[in-house]
Amino acid sequence: MSSSNAGREAVSPGRWVVAGHCYVVATPIGNLADISERAILVLRGVDFIACEDTRHARVLLNHLGVQKELVALHEHNERGASEAIRRRLEAGESVALISDAGTPAISDPGEVLVRVLADGEVPVVPIPGASAVIAALSASGLPGRPFWFEGFLPPQGKARRERLAELAEVEATLAFYEAPHRIVKSVAACAEGLGGSRPAVLARELTKRFEQIARGSLAELAEQLASGEIPARGEFVVLVGPGEAGEAGDAVDADVLIGLLVDEGVAPKTIARVVSRTTSRSRNAVYAEVLARREDAPNS
Ligand code: SAM
Repeated sequence: MSSSNAGREAVSPGRWVVAGHCYVVATPIGNLADISERAILVLRGVDFIACEDTRHARVLLNHLGVQKELVALHEHNERGASEAIRRRLEAGESVALISDAGTPAISDPGEVLVRVLADGEVPVVPIPGASAVIAALSASGLPGRPFWFEGFLPPQGKARRERLAELAEVEATLAFYEAPHRIVKSVAACAEGLGGSRPAVLARELTKRFEQIARGSLAELAEQLASGEIPARGEFVVLVGPGEAGEAGDAVDADVLIGLLVDEGVAPKTIARVVSRTTSRSRNAVYAEVLARREDAPNS
């Protein structure tokens, strides 16, 4: 059986590093001060560093004053590079694995390397630190137990809809990563597929200058993104609180609700506000629907 050998005496440079070990080192997700002291000591002590993008890694390592051999390990070479790293560790070298940001192997390369090393009974030691999903969840106020980390949704509309239909059955806080160029469509799709009334949080640019934590219903946040009130720029974690048990899509039928409120003579703006808060329909879409119904009404 392999073990981390946490208490064993160090035999390679520095007492923080043991020969033949792999250290999975978390790095900052924006604010460089978020790196741990132990992470720095390990990066200084290992023989070489495996990283996602060597140019990107150099920026952080230069900032830390660490000069080491860098080996690229990314989604296109992960298998081959992992085997090569395993052979070096078996020969007595030590390695630190880092990714472009946050914790390696969390929606980032590293999983294959860790499996190859574990299969070869090479010790793997986590050096914990920042991860966007945990940072977002910790400041969200949404239930953290249970939570479901989904990572990135499929980019294509049909595959995304199908995956969201499956996730609508999961009774947990859902956590997604999303790229800025897809965030508007993705959150709109979440509102449509999971139910616009579910509580949600958009955690944008965590630990950076324009950090923003926006709270509201999924429908409200989708609308704020679509209107530009929340800028579709930077990095996002999307958190969706649990819905009612077994809830899939809206609990209330938007068309029925609009019809009832129009019949009651409620003002279009009020209808738009109420319906967008209780269903996945956006405020603008509801407003347009109300005006269209009024025009169609027999005595309008
Ligand atoms: N391994 C990383 C971690 O532990 O968080 C995640 C890497 S994944 C390729 C990149 C995604 O993480 C981004 O698209 C975004 O969804 C999220 N992310 C990374 N940094 C972030 C930040 N500072 N604020 C919000 N989300 C962030």
